[in-house]
Amino acid sequence: MKSDIQIAHEAHLLPVQAIAEKLGVDPDDLELHGKYKAKFSNGLWSKIGDRENGKLVLVTAINPTPAGEGKTTVTVGLGQALNHIGKNAVIALREPSLGPCFGMKGGAAGGGYAQVVPMEDLNLHFTGDFHAITSANNLLAAMLDNHIFQGNALDIDPKRIVFKRCMDMNDRALRHTVVGLGGPKDGVVREDGFVITVASEIMAILCLARDIGDLKQRLARIIVAYSRSGDPVTAADLHAVGAMSSLLKDAINPNLIQTLENTPAIIHGGPFANIAHGCNSVRATTLGLKLADIVVTEAGFGADLGAEKFFDIKCRMSGLRPSCVVLVATTKALKYNGGAGKNEWQHENMEALAKGIVNLGKHIENVKKYGVPVVVTLNAYASDTPKEHDFIRQYCQQRGCRFALAEVWEKGGAGGVELARQVIDILEHEPEHFQPLYPDELPLSDKIDTIAKEIYGADGVTWSAAARTMLTKIESMGFGHFPICMAKTQYSLSDDPTLLGQPTGFTINIREVYVSAGAGFVVALTGSIMTMPGLPKTPAANIIDLNEDGLISGLF
Ligand code: ADP
Ligand code: MG
Repeated sequence: MKSDIQIAHEAHLLPVQAIAEKLGVDPDDLELHGKYKAKFSNGLWSKIGDRENGKLVLVTAINPTPAGEGKTTVTVGLGQALNHIGKNAVIALREPSLGPCFGMKGGAAGGGYAQVVPMEDLNLHFTGDFHAITSANNLLAAMLDNHIFQGNALDIDPKRIVFKRCMDMNDRALRHTVVGLGGPKDGVVREDGFVITVASEIMAILCLARDIGDLKQRLARIIVAYSRSGDPVTAADLHAVGAMSSLLKDAINPNLIQTLENTPAIIHGGPFANIAHGCNSVRATTLGLKLADIVVTEAGFGADLGAEKFFDIKCRMSGLRPSCVVLVATTKALKYNGGAGKNEWQHENMEALAKGIVNLGKHIENVKKYGVPVVVTLNAYASDTPKEHDFIRQYCQQRGCRFALAEVWEKGGAGGVELARQVIDILEHEPEHFQPLYPDELPLSDKIDTIAKEIYGADGVTWSAAARTMLTKIESMGFGHFPICMAKTQYSLSDDPTLLGQPTGFTINIREVYVSAGAGFVVALTGSIMTMPGLPKTPAANIIDLNEDGLISGLF
């Protein structure tokens, strides 16, 4: 069997101008990054802003196994399939982070015959957006420490600095650091730490900002620290906004590449799916809706996190309205949710499947709460059996839920025609009645309670004393109308990764809350959430190589 990168190397890529032409975009409105990558120019917006939007399709999934269930693969495959049957569809995805590329999960360009290309470029550096975000983040951090060193006119409490430096790498040794060591001229000594770039608030901001004006307003609101009297100190207070936004001048514009079948793919931004909202940028999705009839996009993690935040954060803030949800399931994740261990996923196991399928049932029910029509798609693996497929199809049919088998990994767009036809049928015949789960004016603790009960199926919420105090403080600072960004394990509907299937009789424990004032949401942490991941014992980096001709191998 060919590896993803071998398949990608065999693709017949069109020049990026030809891809833009499919979207009706003039070469003048592209900033070229070589032959196959481009940024849309800032000037394009004034030409297309008044157009009517196309339809938005969200791809999400059931609670996954650690290897991922193929949301990106299905997103790319569905985009290809829609074009295959003559529709004008574009894909909108996140940019991959270097951390998982070299760690355990690999890149994020899809897989098999449903990939975006050039995959090496996308997975490594791409058009430099992550570099720009890292630089803007670290400029703010440098200005903060310099302010303290230069006399600390804002009376910043060095023990209450909440903004960290960042780097796009899985490097656990940087989680807790000390800065300012050395002599009197070397800065003020304090404990510090790094987050991975995708966890930087600037990443979340870039992905939610409508335009440069909105970007600057959001940057200005970032809370970097609290003063000794407890008042928030912001990026605006440090006069950092102009310089930070200058570093983001190009990064704010979405990127264009293509799939293996030359379907246009708009790729932009990649916020963490735990302490941030986990979807590509509002600008990229909006641009796609102006340029094509259908936009297929993905939200990170399972639907309890990814779709919830897509609806309650991204759609709420931007006014985007999803017309259809594609809910990805795999036999391995269903068997995993039914208690089968890693070595058993490759074999037929009807018992585990029957036990784990309640997880799919709960996610179908959850999506319906938002008033958006849903189709379940089974991302087919070679080791699946027809009996397993039939069982899942029947389960959906019995609940009156649409179902389609997706064989896009093996066959590309041709393997996604059943799914594409179901999606088109929804877009043409089942209007959405989208509404977020909770209103803006609900108190913050009630918002968290609503998510826990309605989406996770919890009995209720317990709070640490610190979380309670902070919620009151956040409301008194004027952020009570913000939506919630839940940081929770992706492996369970609960906050305990070992509770699989559809757990009941549990409570959600909120350990800490804080406000991302620039992004515009309140983060609620359950358990300990890693914002600087580490590398596994045998990282993917061990097998990645470059040959004499400049060709990369081992990326996946
Ligand atoms: P997600 O977006 O849900 O995290 P991805 O689409 O990135 O998942 O897929 C995770 C990995 O699984 C990728 O390496 C991809 O190539 C592989 N994969 C996805 N679907 C299939 C499939 N049907 N058969 C085999 N491998 C697959
Ligand atoms: Mg993905």
